[in-house]
Amino acid sequence: MARDYHKAMVPFFGSDEIGSWVNGAMMPGRGDMFDLTDPATGKAFLTLKDAGADVVDAAMQAASAGQKVWWGMTAAERGRIMWRIGQQVRDHLDALALLETMSAGKPIRDTKVEVLKVAEMFEYYAGWADKLHGDVIPVPTSHLNYTRPEPYGVVTQITPWNAPIFTAGWQLAPALCTGNAAVLKPSEMTPLTSLVLGVLSKKAGLPDGVITVLTGLGTTTGVAATTHDVTRKVVFVGSPRTGAIIAAQAAQNIVPCVLELGGKSANIVFGDADLKRAVIGAQAAIFSGAGQSCVAGSRLLVQRNVVDRFLDMLVDGANRIPVGDPMDSATQIGPINNDAQYQTVRRLVAAGQKEGAELLAGGVRPDGCEEGYFLRPTVLGNVRNDMAIAREEIFGPVVSVIPFEDEAEAVAIANDSKFGLAGAVWTQSVDRAHRMAANVRAGTFWINSYKTINVMSPFGGFGASGYGRSSGKEGLMEYMQPKSVWTETAANPPAAFGYAPE
Ligand code: NAD
Repeated sequence: MARDYHKAMVPFFGSDEIGSWVNGAMMPGRGDMFDLTDPATGKAFLTLKDAGADVVDAAMQAASAGQKVWWGMTAAERGRIMWRIGQQVRDHLDALALLETMSAGKPIRDTKVEVLKVAEMFEYYAGWADKLHGDVIPVPTSHLNYTRPEPYGVVTQITPWNAPIFTAGWQLAPALCTGNAAVLKPSEMTPLTSLVLGVLSKKAGLPDGVITVLTGLGTTTGVAATTHDVTRKVVFVGSPRTGAIIAAQAAQNIVPCVLELGGKSANIVFGDADLKRAVIGAQAAIFSGAGQSCVAGSRLLVQRNVVDRFLDMLVDGANRIPVGDPMDSATQIGPINNDAQYQTVRRLVAAGQKEGAELLAGGVRPDGCEEGYFLRPTVLGNVRNDMAIAREEIFGPVVSVIPFEDEAEAVAIANDSKFGLAGAVWTQSVDRAHRMAANVRAGTFWINSYKTINVMSPFGGFGASGYGRSSGKEGLMEYMQPKSVWTETAANPPAAFGYAPE
């Protein structure tokens, strides 16, 4: 399908040079040039400049000033502006989805849903803005003690390429709701839709400096932002390797982090499950978004007594899924986002076969997709949990099928992973379902379902999948720090050391 990148960008950026969104305007980068590549063609379509440390410094000063204005407004007014940002996103849904599809390679049917979710995030947290308050604590002294939830100030947010606008909205909305200014550095591979959120927030009446979007590389702009002394908190969504580096960077200034990292989630199918529904669920769990989802059900544990029957259906389904141009509304799976990731996925599939896994479907380019980073939905059978394909996050449309005998073995395999992001069970036994929910070590768990998440419900990882929570009430708490205020109420409080001046 024809691609007019210029036409997709002009509604938002006009003829301005695309740089970073700083203090309510575009600020050109001062660092090295880098390209944005269309994953469906593998060709560069735009060259941008890394922001660099000077732009980060200017952005931080503007964010600090903007935060004071924002926190000085009434909570109700902040909520109204946030609601209007949500409305702006709704009003630009199609154009935003198109831009996201072009730059991230996600099918247009998916990006429309994700953009809508971003609108819902701003609307949900708009409602919270004037409902956040502290407590009066019945301390056993003559004091009145109460808490004030206060913002951190300027919060730096670093996001990945697999769900660019979704992860941006996911973190911007709670940060704003609680009176912070947000300095967001999206992935250098997919910054465009995050920049648009900056542009649209100005249209909605957000004061300058409250949302900053830095266009640039992790090792330059990202480092400068996370270590800048104006940054009071860092929220990171990305790989565990980078998460560990960022936590160390933030620790230099005693700055706390939230880390939303990767996963190797176990999707567990028992013999007593409704197998047709479980197959549909297993496909959604791993193949949607071409497997580039932190919660992907990449380890599919199937009870041995049904594994052959289950695999027949899974392979048949995998072979039928339409893979192709993400701009085509019939496409269900698009390309992998970038060449490095594509090579990683292919290397891991080959490593799995070398270790003895059986390639049952996919593992090849789809017909008609000669350029770009496409892979057919891939099923690897006879996988053992000690193989690399069961331990490493592949982040592609590749499922590793691991047979198990009984419930105890399923739990043991599921928990034999450094990750703990998500998991699921398919069974018709109510007691088993809830035992599994209790026994599998994961931040999110589904019963006879997979991948449903909502801004109203907390989300986050156990173990190497990270710490802290996003979404829901819990996500708000990460953006506030309680201040405890004490007032003496006694007419004649006891004197310290028994001394009272005349
Ligand atoms: P990544 O870790 O390579 O990069 C993420 C971001 O970090 C990018 O913006 C990058 O520029 C920046 N960065 C890199 N080094 C930096 C540094 N030293 N200082 C500051 N910033 C730096 O991740 P990715 O490959 O873009 O994304 C894929 C990963 O994200 C997967 O592991 C996936 O599971 C994870 N993810 C997790 C969640 C979740 O909620 N748990 C959601 C989406 C994606």
